[in-house]
Amino acid sequence: PIYFDNHATTQVDPRVVEAMLPTFTQVFGNPSSVGHLYGEEAKQLVEASQQSIALAIGASASEIVFTSGATESNNLAISGVLSQRRRRGNHVVTVTTEHKAVLDPLEQWEHHGFEITRLSPRQASDPLAGMLDPDQVRDAIRPDTTLVSVMLANNEIGVIHPIAEIGQICKEQGVLLHSDATQAVGKTPVDVERLGVDLMSFSAHKMYGPKGVGGLYVRKSAPRVRLQPAIFGGGQQRGIRSGTLNVPGIVGLAEAIRLSVAEMEEESQRLAQLRKQLWSGLTERIAGLHLNGPSLEATGARLAGNLNFAVEQVDGEALMMNVREIAVSSGSACTSANPQPSHVLRAIGLSEDLTRSSLRFGIGRFNTPQEVEFAVDVVAGAVDKLRKLIA
Ligand code: PLP
Repeated sequence: PIYFDNHATTQVDPRVVEAMLPTFTQVFGNPSSVGHLYGEEAKQLVEASQQSIALAIGASASEIVFTSGATESNNLAISGVLSQRRRRGNHVVTVTTEHKAVLDPLEQWEHHGFEITRLSPRQASDPLAGMLDPDQVRDAIRPDTTLVSVMLANNEIGVIHPIAEIGQICKEQGVLLHSDATQAVGKTPVDVERLGVDLMSFSAHKMYGPKGVGGLYVRKSAPRVRLQPAIFGGGQQRGIRSGTLNVPGIVGLAEAIRLSVAEMEEESQRLAQLRKQLWSGLTERIAGLHLNGPSLEATGARLAGNLNFAVEQVDGEALMMNVREIAVSSGSACTSANPQPSHVLRAIGLSEDLTRSSLRFGIGRFNTPQEVEFAVDVVAGAVDKLRKLIA
C-alpha cells in the first residue's frame, strides 16, 4: 500500500539514518563516561545535538531534556509541574481534543484531587473547526490555576491553535503553559519565545526521525520551571530524567529537526499542493464528503499535509476494508489499540456515524502527485462500490 499515515509516524529520512550510523559502531561511548575518549566523543555529539535542537525552536541548549518520545514528555511536563506546584493551586485548563498522552495523565491527577477544565473548541460547521479561542483560556483561568496545557497542532484534524495569544494570557496571569507540539515541530514555525510556552513536547518519529526518542523544552528564565522527575537513577540530565542517554536517537532527532526546519517552507508548499490535488480530486468524484477541521483556505490554521473528511452513506469499517491499497487512518492511529470513535471528531460535534466513516490522510515528505492520484482512485472506487451495495 501507498503510505499516507504521516501523522501516525514517518519513514526515517535516509539522511537521518546516515547521521546516526557512526553512533552505533564508532562513537558508541556512554556520554556520562567522561574519563576517556569514547565517553568524551559521545558527550560532544549529545551537546552538539542539543545545540542544534535548541536553535531550531528558539531555546537554549540547557533547556532541552531528552525523553523516549512525546508521551513521556507530556507525562513529565504535567506530572513534573503538578507535583511541584500543588501548594499554588490544583486547577488545570486543557482542551477536549488533546492527545491521550495529555488527557490521560490529567485524568490521573483528577483522581488525586486536581480539578481539570476541558475546554471545547469551535464546532464542525465553523470554518475554524477545532480551534480554541484564546478568550476561552482567559475566562477559564482562576486564582488556583497552576497549569494550562494546549497542543500546538492537532494530530487528527491538523488545526493549529493560537498558542502565542494563549501564551500571552498565561504570562499575564502567572500560569505555566505546556504545549504538545509533537505534530508541529518541523512542520510549522516554532519559537518558544514567540509562543510564550514554558514547557513544550516533541518527538522524532513524527518528523522523519527514529522512534523512541523525543524531547521536552523546559523554560529556564523567568519563570524558571522546576520539575519533579518521573524517572530516578543515575542523575543524568541534571537529575530531571535519569538513564543512559540514547545517543543514536538524540543524533537522529537533531538531524531530523535540522532538515525539517531548513526545508520547511518548500516542503509545506509542496504538501499543501498535494493536499489540494487530493481534496479536489475526491470532491469531484464523490458526493457527500464533509471536511473535518478548519477550512483548507484558512491559511496558518491547519498543517499543510493534513486532510480529514467524513464520507456520508458508507459504513466506516467497510470503507477502511476497501481502501487497503493506501495506508490511511480512521480516527487516531496512536490510540487504535482501542477501536473507539475518535474523541477529537466527536468533540467538534460530528455524529458517531460520520466519525466512524472518516478518513485521515497525513501527506508527507515522500509522497508524489502520482500517489495522490492513485489515492483518489482508490477512495472513489471504494465509495462507489459500497454505495452501490446499499442502493
Ligand atoms: N502527542 C501528539 C499530538 C501525537 O500526535 C502523538 C503521536 O502519537 C503523541 C503525543 C505521542 O508521541 P510518541 O509516539 O512520541 O510518544
